[in-house]
Amino acid sequence: MSADQISRRGFLGTGAAAGAGLLWTSAMGGCALPVGGRVVTPHSAESGKAKNIIFLVADGMNTGTWTLADYWLQKQQNKRTEWVNLYAEQLVQRSLMETCSANSLVTDSAAAGSSWSCGQRINNGAINFDPDGNSLVTIHDRIKKSGRSTGLVTTTRMTHATPASFASSVSSRGMEDEIALQYLNNGVDVLLGGGARHFSAQTRKDGEDLFGKYKASGYQVLQTRNELLAPTRQSSDKILGTFWQTHLPYSIDWNQQPKIAQRVPKLSEMMRVALKSLDRNPNGFLLQVEGGRVDHAGHGNDPGAIVHDQLAFDECIKVALEFSQENPETLVVVTTDHGCGGCQLNGVGASYVDTDSTFYEGIGAIRASYEYLKNQHKTLPREEFRDLVEELIQLSLTDAQIDTLDEHKDGLYEVSNYLRKWHDPFKRTGVNFTSSNHTGEFVELSSWGPGSGLLNAWIKNTDVNQVMRKVLELS
Ligand SMILES: [Zn+2]
Repeated sequence: MSADQISRRGFLGTGAAAGAGLLWTSAMGGCALPVGGRVVTPHSAESGKAKNIIFLVADGMNTGTWTLADYWLQKQQNKRTEWVNLYAEQLVQRSLMETCSANSLVTDSAAAGSSWSCGQRINNGAINFDPDGNSLVTIHDRIKKSGRSTGLVTTTRMTHATPASFASSVSSRGMEDEIALQYLNNGVDVLLGGGARHFSAQTRKDGEDLFGKYKASGYQVLQTRNELLAPTRQSSDKILGTFWQTHLPYSIDWNQQPKIAQRVPKLSEMMRVALKSLDRNPNGFLLQVEGGRVDHAGHGNDPGAIVHDQLAFDECIKVALEFSQENPETLVVVTTDHGCGGCQLNGVGASYVDTDSTFYEGIGAIRASYEYLKNQHKTLPREEFRDLVEELIQLSLTDAQIDTLDEHKDGLYEVSNYLRKWHDPFKRTGVNFTSSNHTGEFVELSSWGPGSGLLNAWIKNTDVNQVMRKVLELS
Protein backbone atom coordinates (compact mmCIF):
# COMPACT_ATOMS: atom_id res chain seq x y z
CA MET A 1 0.00 0.00 0.00
CA SER A 2 1.51 3.34 -0.93
CA ALA A 3 0.98 6.70 0.64
CA ASP A 4 -1.00 8.03 -2.29
CA GLN A 5 -3.54 5.23 -1.98
CA ILE A 6 -4.66 6.63 1.33
CA SER A 7 -5.81 10.16 1.86
CA ARG A 8 -5.92 10.91 5.56
CA ARG A 9 -8.50 13.66 5.35
CA GLY A 10 -9.93 14.73 8.66
CA PHE A 11 -13.51 13.72 9.25
CA LEU A 12 -14.60 17.33 9.47
CA GLY A 13 -12.61 18.25 6.39
CA THR A 14 -13.44 17.40 2.83
CA GLY A 15 -13.65 13.63 3.33
CA ALA A 16 -16.36 11.57 1.73
CA ALA A 17 -18.31 11.10 4.96
CA ALA A 18 -18.37 14.81 5.70
CA GLY A 19 -19.33 15.50 2.11
CA ALA A 20 -22.29 13.18 2.49
CA GLY A 21 -23.53 15.27 5.40
CA LEU A 22 -22.99 12.55 8.00
CA LEU A 23 -21.83 14.85 10.76
CA TRP A 24 -22.18 13.49 14.27
CA THR A 25 -24.46 15.15 16.77
CA SER A 26 -25.11 14.13 20.35
CA ALA A 27 -28.71 13.45 19.40
CA MET A 28 -27.53 10.59 17.19
CA GLY A 29 -26.55 8.48 20.20
CA GLY A 30 -23.36 6.70 21.17
CA CYS A 31 -22.35 4.77 18.08
CA ALA A 32 -23.74 6.91 15.31
CA LEU A 33 -20.51 8.49 14.13
CA PRO A 34 -19.67 7.31 10.62
CA VAL A 35 -16.28 5.72 10.23
CA GLY A 36 -13.52 6.69 7.93
CA GLY A 37 -13.11 9.80 5.88
CA ARG A 38 -10.12 8.47 3.97
CA VAL A 39 -10.03 7.22 0.43
CA VAL A 40 -8.51 3.77 0.25
CA THR A 41 -8.07 0.95 -2.16
CA PRO A 42 -9.57 -2.39 -1.11
CA HIS A 43 -7.32 -4.67 0.88
CA SER A 44 -5.77 -7.51 -1.04
CA ALA A 45 -4.12 -10.43 0.69
CA GLU A 46 -0.37 -10.20 0.44
CA SER A 47 2.09 -12.95 1.09
CA GLY A 48 5.47 -11.42 0.20
CA LYS A 49 8.63 -11.04 2.23
CA ALA A 50 8.97 -8.34 4.86
CA LYS A 51 11.94 -6.34 6.07
CA ASN A 52 10.36 -5.14 9.32
CA ILE A 53 7.66 -6.25 11.75
CA ILE A 54 5.79 -3.90 14.07
CA PHE A 55 3.86 -5.94 16.64
CA LEU A 56 1.31 -4.00 18.71
CA VAL A 57 -0.29 -5.63 21.77
CA ALA A 58 -3.11 -4.12 23.82
CA ASP A 59 -2.52 -6.50 26.70
CA GLY A 60 -5.65 -8.03 28.22
CA MET A 61 -8.07 -6.25 25.89
CA ASN A 62 -11.63 -7.48 25.81
CA THR A 63 -13.48 -6.35 22.71
CA GLY A 64 -15.75 -4.52 25.17
CA THR A 65 -12.76 -2.45 26.29
CA TRP A 66 -12.03 -1.29 22.77
CA THR A 67 -15.72 -0.50 22.29
CA LEU A 68 -15.78 1.76 25.36
CA ALA A 69 -12.70 3.58 24.14
CA ASP A 70 -14.22 4.11 20.71
CA TYR A 71 -17.51 5.48 22.07
CA TRP A 72 -15.65 7.77 24.44
CA LEU A 73 -13.42 9.12 21.66
CA GLN A 74 -16.47 9.84 19.51
CA LYS A 75 -17.98 11.84 22.33
CA GLN A 76 -14.79 13.69 23.22
CA GLN A 77 -13.14 14.33 19.88
CA ASN A 78 -15.77 13.56 17.29
CA LYS A 79 -13.70 10.82 15.73
CA ARG A 80 -13.38 7.08 15.91
CA THR A 81 -10.45 4.97 17.03
CA GLU A 82 -7.70 4.17 14.57
CA TRP A 83 -8.45 0.48 15.02
CA VAL A 84 -12.09 0.93 13.95
CA ASN A 85 -10.97 2.98 10.97
CA LEU A 86 -8.60 0.21 9.89
CA TYR A 87 -11.53 -2.19 9.69
CA ALA A 88 -13.97 0.26 8.22
CA GLU A 89 -11.64 1.12 5.40
CA GLN A 90 -10.70 -2.48 4.69
CA LEU A 91 -7.05 -1.65 5.14
CA VAL A 92 -6.34 -4.81 7.03
CA GLN A 93 -6.51 -8.55 7.23
CA ARG A 94 -8.76 -9.57 10.12
CA SER A 95 -8.30 -12.74 12.16
CA LEU A 96 -9.82 -14.23 15.28
CA MET A 97 -7.15 -15.80 17.46
CA GLU A 98 -7.45 -18.62 20.00
CA THR A 99 -5.27 -17.74 23.00
CA CYS A 100 -4.98 -20.96 25.09
CA SER A 101 -1.76 -21.97 26.84
CA ALA A 102 -0.46 -25.54 27.29
CA ASN A 103 -2.12 -26.03 30.66
CA SER A 104 -5.17 -23.76 30.56
CA LEU A 105 -7.94 -22.50 28.30
CA VAL A 106 -7.20 -19.13 29.92
CA THR A 107 -3.64 -18.00 29.33
CA ASP A 108 -1.44 -15.55 31.17
CA SER A 109 0.72 -13.02 29.34
CA ALA A 110 3.89 -15.08 29.78
CA ALA A 111 2.57 -18.16 27.98
CA ALA A 112 0.67 -16.03 25.46
CA GLY A 113 3.71 -13.98 24.46
CA SER A 114 5.83 -17.12 24.36
CA SER A 115 3.42 -18.74 21.90
CA TRP A 116 4.18 -15.90 19.47
CA SER A 117 7.86 -15.85 20.29
CA CYS A 118 8.92 -19.51 20.34
CA GLY A 119 5.95 -20.98 18.48
CA GLN A 120 4.97 -23.44 21.22
CA ARG A 121 2.24 -23.41 23.82
CA ILE A 122 3.82 -23.61 27.26
CA ASN A 123 2.47 -23.52 30.82
CA ASN A 124 1.19 -20.31 32.36
CA GLY A 125 3.88 -18.49 34.32
CA ALA A 126 6.85 -19.61 32.20
CA ILE A 127 8.58 -17.59 29.49
CA ASN A 128 9.95 -19.57 26.53
CA PHE A 129 10.57 -22.51 28.84
CA ASP A 130 8.88 -25.86 28.32
CA PRO A 131 7.44 -28.00 31.17
CA ASP A 132 10.51 -30.28 31.01
CA GLY A 133 12.80 -27.37 31.84
CA ASN A 134 14.12 -26.75 28.34
CA SER A 135 14.80 -23.22 27.20
CA LEU A 136 13.17 -22.47 23.82
CA VAL A 137 14.46 -20.26 20.99
CA THR A 138 12.87 -16.79 21.05
CA ILE A 139 11.80 -14.73 18.04
CA HIS A 140 14.35 -12.15 19.21
CA ASP A 141 17.23 -14.59 18.79
CA ARG A 142 16.08 -15.59 15.31
CA ILE A 143 15.69 -11.95 14.30
CA LYS A 144 19.14 -10.99 15.55
CA LYS A 145 20.65 -13.91 13.65
CA SER A 146 19.17 -12.44 10.46
CA GLY A 147 21.08 -9.19 11.01
CA ARG A 148 18.03 -7.19 12.05
CA SER A 149 17.56 -5.05 15.16
CA THR A 150 14.99 -5.51 17.95
CA GLY A 151 13.02 -3.15 20.15
CA LEU A 152 10.64 -3.53 23.09
CA VAL A 153 8.37 -0.67 24.15
CA THR A 154 5.83 -0.97 26.96
CA THR A 155 3.86 0.85 29.63
CA THR A 156 4.61 -1.92 32.14
CA ARG A 157 7.93 -2.71 33.74
CA MET A 158 10.40 -3.39 30.94
CA THR A 159 10.86 -6.87 32.36
CA HIS A 160 7.15 -7.73 32.58
CA ALA A 161 5.78 -10.83 30.86
CA THR A 162 4.85 -9.58 27.38
CA PRO A 163 8.08 -7.77 26.43
CA ALA A 164 10.06 -10.46 28.24
CA SER A 165 8.45 -13.17 26.13
CA PHE A 166 9.85 -11.68 22.94
CA ALA A 167 13.47 -11.66 24.09
CA SER A 168 14.15 -13.80 27.16
CA SER A 169 13.78 -17.32 28.46
CA VAL A 170 13.09 -18.04 32.15
CA SER A 171 11.25 -20.75 34.08
CA SER A 172 9.18 -18.16 35.98
CA ARG A 173 7.95 -14.73 34.91
CA GLY A 174 8.80 -13.37 38.34
CA MET A 175 12.54 -13.55 37.56
CA GLU A 176 12.58 -9.94 36.43
CA ASP A 177 16.12 -9.13 37.62
CA GLU A 178 17.34 -12.03 35.47
CA ILE A 179 15.27 -10.86 32.49
CA ALA A 180 16.90 -7.41 32.67
CA LEU A 181 20.30 -9.10 32.46
CA GLN A 182 19.23 -11.36 29.59
CA TYR A 183 18.15 -8.33 27.52
CA LEU A 184 21.71 -7.04 27.75
CA ASN A 185 23.36 -10.38 27.04
CA ASN A 186 20.94 -11.12 24.18
CA GLY A 187 21.50 -7.69 22.64
CA VAL A 188 18.00 -6.16 22.54
CA ASP A 189 18.68 -2.81 20.85
CA VAL A 190 15.92 -0.53 22.14
CA LEU A 191 14.15 -0.87 25.51
CA LEU A 192 11.65 1.82 26.55
CA GLY A 193 9.14 1.53 29.41
CA GLY A 194 8.94 1.32 33.20
CA GLY A 195 10.66 -0.89 35.75
CA ALA A 196 13.89 0.95 36.61
CA ARG A 197 13.99 -1.11 39.81
CA HIS A 198 15.25 -4.17 37.92
CA PHE A 199 18.20 -2.27 36.46
CA SER A 200 19.35 -0.24 39.47
CA ALA A 201 22.01 -1.45 41.92
CA GLN A 202 19.92 -0.03 44.77
CA THR A 203 16.88 -2.19 44.05
CA ARG A 204 18.21 -5.34 42.35
CA LYS A 205 18.54 -8.32 44.69
CA ASP A 206 22.12 -9.00 43.53
CA GLY A 207 23.10 -5.31 43.86
CA GLU A 208 24.43 -5.24 40.29
CA ASP A 209 24.46 -1.89 38.51
CA LEU A 210 22.83 -2.81 35.22
CA PHE A 211 22.49 0.83 34.19
CA GLY A 212 26.29 0.99 34.33
CA LYS A 213 26.63 -2.25 32.39
CA TYR A 214 24.24 -1.09 29.68
CA LYS A 215 26.16 2.20 29.40
CA ALA A 216 29.44 0.33 29.11
CA SER A 217 27.92 -1.70 26.28
CA GLY A 218 27.11 1.44 24.30
CA TYR A 219 23.50 2.06 25.35
CA GLN A 220 22.12 5.54 25.77
CA VAL A 221 20.51 5.33 29.25
CA LEU A 222 17.51 7.62 29.80
CA GLN A 223 15.19 8.23 32.74
CA THR A 224 12.93 11.16 31.86
CA ARG A 225 10.59 12.19 29.09
CA ASN A 226 12.63 15.34 28.51
CA GLU A 227 15.76 13.30 27.94
CA LEU A 228 13.91 11.06 25.49
CA LEU A 229 12.31 13.86 23.48
CA ALA A 230 15.07 16.49 23.66
CA PRO A 231 15.91 17.70 20.14
CA THR A 232 19.55 17.73 21.22
CA ARG A 233 19.55 14.02 22.08
CA GLN A 234 22.04 12.20 19.89
CA SER A 235 20.47 9.50 17.76
CA SER A 236 21.59 6.08 18.88
CA ASP A 237 21.25 2.45 17.81
CA LYS A 238 21.01 1.31 21.42
CA ILE A 239 18.71 2.90 23.99
CA LEU A 240 17.57 1.86 27.48
CA GLY A 241 14.85 4.17 28.83
CA THR A 242 13.15 3.33 32.14
CA PHE A 243 10.88 6.16 33.25
CA TRP A 244 9.36 4.87 36.52
CA GLN A 245 10.41 2.44 39.24
CA THR A 246 7.61 0.01 38.44
CA HIS A 247 4.85 0.10 35.77
CA LEU A 248 4.32 3.51 34.17
CA PRO A 249 1.35 5.40 35.65
CA TYR A 250 -2.03 5.01 33.97
CA SER A 251 -2.81 7.39 31.10
CA ILE A 252 -5.76 8.87 33.00
CA ASP A 253 -3.29 10.03 35.67
CA TRP A 254 -0.79 11.17 33.02
CA ASN A 255 -3.58 13.32 31.55
CA GLN A 256 -4.48 14.86 34.93
CA GLN A 257 -1.16 15.21 36.74
CA PRO A 258 1.48 17.49 35.15
CA LYS A 259 4.17 16.03 37.43
CA ILE A 260 3.66 12.61 35.88
CA ALA A 261 3.54 13.99 32.34
CA GLN A 262 6.83 15.81 32.89
CA ARG A 263 8.61 12.62 33.81
CA VAL A 264 6.92 9.90 31.76
CA PRO A 265 6.61 9.70 27.95
CA LYS A 266 3.45 8.53 26.24
CA LEU A 267 3.48 5.10 24.64
CA SER A 268 3.27 6.59 21.15
CA GLU A 269 6.20 8.93 21.91
CA MET A 270 8.36 5.99 22.96
CA MET A 271 7.27 4.11 19.86
CA ARG A 272 8.33 6.94 17.54
CA VAL A 273 11.77 7.13 19.16
CA ALA A 274 12.16 3.37 18.89
CA LEU A 275 11.19 3.35 15.21
CA LYS A 276 13.66 6.09 14.41
CA SER A 277 16.46 4.22 16.10
CA LEU A 278 15.63 0.77 14.73
CA ASP A 279 15.14 2.07 11.20
CA ARG A 280 18.86 2.92 11.10
CA ASN A 281 19.54 -0.77 10.48
CA PRO A 282 19.32 -1.38 6.70
CA ASN A 283 18.52 -5.06 7.34
CA GLY A 284 15.28 -4.23 9.18
CA PHE A 285 13.86 -4.81 12.66
CA LEU A 286 11.20 -6.24 14.95
CA LEU A 287 9.50 -3.73 17.23
CA GLN A 288 7.06 -4.93 19.88
CA VAL A 289 4.87 -2.22 21.47
CA GLU A 290 2.66 -3.11 24.43
CA GLY A 291 -0.21 -1.15 25.96
CA GLY A 292 0.30 -3.23 29.07
CA ARG A 293 -1.80 -1.31 31.52
CA VAL A 294 -5.03 -2.02 29.66
CA ASP A 295 -4.66 -5.44 31.28
CA HIS A 296 -4.01 -3.97 34.71
CA ALA A 297 -7.09 -1.76 34.53
CA GLY A 298 -9.04 -4.92 33.65
CA HIS A 299 -7.67 -6.73 36.70
CA GLY A 300 -8.49 -3.66 38.78
CA ASN A 301 -12.01 -3.28 37.28
CA ASP A 302 -11.22 0.39 36.72
CA PRO A 303 -13.32 1.81 33.84
CA GLY A 304 -11.68 5.26 33.84
CA ALA A 305 -8.19 3.83 33.62
CA ILE A 306 -9.12 1.26 31.00
CA VAL A 307 -10.66 3.76 28.55
CA HIS A 308 -7.68 6.11 28.60
CA ASP A 309 -5.00 3.43 28.36
CA GLN A 310 -6.82 1.84 25.42
CA LEU A 311 -6.85 5.23 23.70
CA ALA A 312 -3.13 5.71 24.38
CA PHE A 313 -2.54 2.35 22.71
CA ASP A 314 -4.75 3.32 19.78
CA GLU A 315 -2.46 6.28 19.00
CA CYS A 316 0.26 3.74 18.24
CA ILE A 317 -1.80 2.25 15.41
CA LYS A 318 -1.61 5.61 13.68
CA VAL A 319 2.17 5.71 14.15
CA ALA A 320 2.44 2.21 12.66
CA LEU A 321 0.21 3.18 9.76
CA GLU A 322 2.31 6.22 8.95
CA PHE A 323 5.56 4.25 9.15
CA SER A 324 4.25 1.43 6.97
CA GLN A 325 3.03 3.88 4.34
CA GLU A 326 6.58 5.19 4.00
CA ASN A 327 8.10 1.74 4.45
CA PRO A 328 5.75 -0.68 2.68
CA GLU A 329 8.07 -3.62 3.34
CA THR A 330 6.72 -3.63 6.92
CA LEU A 331 4.30 -6.23 8.31
CA VAL A 332 2.15 -4.70 11.06
CA VAL A 333 0.23 -6.85 13.57
CA VAL A 334 -2.28 -5.32 16.01
CA THR A 335 -3.76 -7.63 18.62
CA THR A 336 -4.12 -8.62 22.26
CA ASP A 337 -2.82 -11.68 24.08
CA HIS A 338 -6.10 -12.46 25.93
CA GLY A 339 -9.08 -10.70 27.48
CA CYS A 340 -9.06 -9.45 31.05
CA GLY A 341 -11.87 -8.70 33.47
CA GLY A 342 -14.65 -9.18 30.90
CA CYS A 343 -15.05 -5.41 30.59
CA GLN A 344 -18.38 -4.39 29.01
CA LEU A 345 -20.78 -1.50 28.69
CA ASN A 346 -24.15 -2.68 30.01
CA GLY A 347 -27.57 -1.30 29.19
CA VAL A 348 -28.92 1.10 31.83
CA GLY A 349 -32.55 2.00 32.60
CA ALA A 350 -35.86 0.96 31.07
CA SER A 351 -35.24 -0.07 27.45
CA TYR A 352 -31.61 0.95 28.14
CA VAL A 353 -32.36 4.58 27.34
CA ASP A 354 -30.22 5.85 30.22
CA THR A 355 -27.12 4.05 28.92
CA ASP A 356 -25.54 6.89 26.95
CA SER A 357 -25.90 9.61 29.56
CA THR A 358 -24.77 7.27 32.35
CA PHE A 359 -21.69 6.21 30.41
CA TYR A 360 -20.60 9.62 29.13
CA GLU A 361 -21.27 11.49 32.36
CA GLY A 362 -19.87 8.68 34.49
CA ILE A 363 -16.60 8.27 32.59
CA GLY A 364 -16.24 12.05 32.27
CA ALA A 365 -16.49 12.44 36.04
CA ILE A 366 -13.63 10.00 36.73
CA ARG A 367 -10.31 11.85 36.82
CA ALA A 368 -8.01 9.37 38.53
CA SER A 369 -7.28 5.67 38.65
CA TYR A 370 -7.92 3.79 41.88
CA GLU A 371 -4.20 3.03 41.87
CA TYR A 372 -3.29 6.73 41.89
CA LEU A 373 -5.63 7.36 44.82
CA LYS A 374 -4.19 4.35 46.64
CA ASN A 375 -0.70 5.80 46.24
CA GLN A 376 -1.86 9.22 47.45
CA HIS A 377 -3.43 7.60 50.51
CA LYS A 378 0.04 6.45 51.58
CA THR A 379 1.35 9.99 51.99
CA LEU A 380 -1.46 12.54 52.21
CA PRO A 381 -2.91 13.79 55.52
CA ARG A 382 -6.40 12.44 56.21
CA GLU A 383 -8.45 15.51 55.25
CA GLU A 384 -6.41 16.23 52.14
CA PHE A 385 -6.95 12.67 50.99
CA ARG A 386 -10.68 12.91 51.65
CA ASP A 387 -10.87 16.10 49.55
CA LEU A 388 -8.79 14.60 46.75
CA VAL A 389 -11.05 11.55 46.44
CA GLU A 390 -14.11 13.81 46.41
CA GLU A 391 -12.53 16.01 43.74
CA LEU A 392 -11.22 13.28 41.43
CA ILE A 393 -13.92 10.59 41.61
CA GLN A 394 -16.80 12.30 43.46
CA LEU A 395 -16.74 9.82 46.33
CA SER A 396 -17.42 11.19 49.83
CA LEU A 397 -15.52 9.03 52.28
CA THR A 398 -16.80 8.65 55.85
CA ASP A 399 -14.47 8.58 58.84
CA ALA A 400 -15.11 4.87 59.23
CA GLN A 401 -14.16 4.25 55.61
CA ILE A 402 -10.91 6.17 55.95
CA ASP A 403 -10.17 4.14 59.10
CA THR A 404 -10.63 0.97 57.05
CA LEU A 405 -8.23 2.24 54.39
CA ASP A 406 -5.68 3.14 57.05
CA GLU A 407 -5.82 -0.40 58.40
CA HIS A 408 -4.85 -1.71 54.95
CA LYS A 409 -2.31 0.96 54.11
CA ASP A 410 0.51 -1.48 53.39
CA GLY A 411 -1.48 -3.93 51.27
CA LEU A 412 -0.87 -4.16 47.56
CA TYR A 413 -4.46 -3.90 46.32
CA GLU A 414 -6.77 -3.55 49.33
CA VAL A 415 -7.06 0.24 49.29
CA SER A 416 -7.81 0.30 45.54
CA ASN A 417 -10.35 -2.47 45.95
CA TYR A 418 -12.18 -0.69 48.78
CA LEU A 419 -12.27 2.55 46.80
CA ARG A 420 -13.70 0.73 43.79
CA LYS A 421 -16.33 -1.01 45.90
CA TRP A 422 -17.51 2.24 47.50
CA HIS A 423 -17.25 4.19 44.25
CA ASP A 424 -19.42 1.58 42.49
CA PRO A 425 -18.37 2.29 38.88
CA PHE A 426 -21.09 0.05 37.43
CA LYS A 427 -23.76 2.28 38.92
CA ARG A 428 -21.95 5.44 37.83
CA THR A 429 -20.90 4.42 34.29
CA GLY A 430 -22.78 1.30 33.17
CA VAL A 431 -19.41 -0.42 32.72
CA ASN A 432 -19.09 -3.72 34.51
CA PHE A 433 -16.66 -6.61 34.75
CA THR A 434 -17.16 -10.35 35.01
CA SER A 435 -14.12 -10.90 37.25
CA SER A 436 -10.65 -9.63 38.09
CA ASN A 437 -9.11 -12.45 36.05
CA HIS A 438 -8.05 -13.08 32.48
CA THR A 439 -10.76 -14.37 30.16
CA GLY A 440 -10.69 -17.04 27.47
CA GLU A 441 -12.49 -15.62 24.43
CA PHE A 442 -11.13 -15.58 20.88
CA VAL A 443 -9.50 -12.20 20.29
CA GLU A 444 -9.02 -9.76 17.43
CA LEU A 445 -5.84 -9.75 15.38
CA SER A 446 -5.42 -7.23 12.57
CA SER A 447 -2.52 -7.16 10.15
CA TRP A 448 -1.39 -5.46 7.00
CA GLY A 449 1.66 -5.39 4.79
CA PRO A 450 3.66 -8.23 3.27
CA GLY A 451 2.72 -11.60 4.72
CA SER A 452 -0.55 -10.45 6.26
CA GLY A 453 -2.39 -12.66 3.78
CA LEU A 454 -0.90 -15.67 5.57
CA LEU A 455 -2.84 -14.83 8.73
CA ASN A 456 -6.14 -16.61 8.16
CA ALA A 457 -9.56 -15.64 9.47
CA TRP A 458 -9.17 -18.04 12.39
CA ILE A 459 -5.74 -18.77 13.87
CA LYS A 460 -4.06 -20.13 16.98
CA ASN A 461 -1.63 -17.88 18.83
CA THR A 462 1.27 -20.13 17.76
CA ASP A 463 0.44 -19.57 14.06
CA VAL A 464 1.70 -15.99 14.41
CA ASN A 465 5.20 -17.32 15.05
CA GLN A 466 5.13 -19.35 11.84
CA VAL A 467 4.02 -16.34 9.80
CA MET A 468 6.67 -14.02 11.28
CA ARG A 469 9.40 -16.55 10.56
CA LYS A 470 8.17 -17.10 7.02
CA VAL A 471 7.86 -13.46 6.00
CA LEU A 472 11.20 -12.51 7.53
CA GLU A 473 12.80 -15.70 6.16
CA LEU A 474 14.08 -16.67 9.60
CA SER A 475 15.53 -20.04 10.50
ZN1 LIG B 1 -3.04 -9.77 33.31
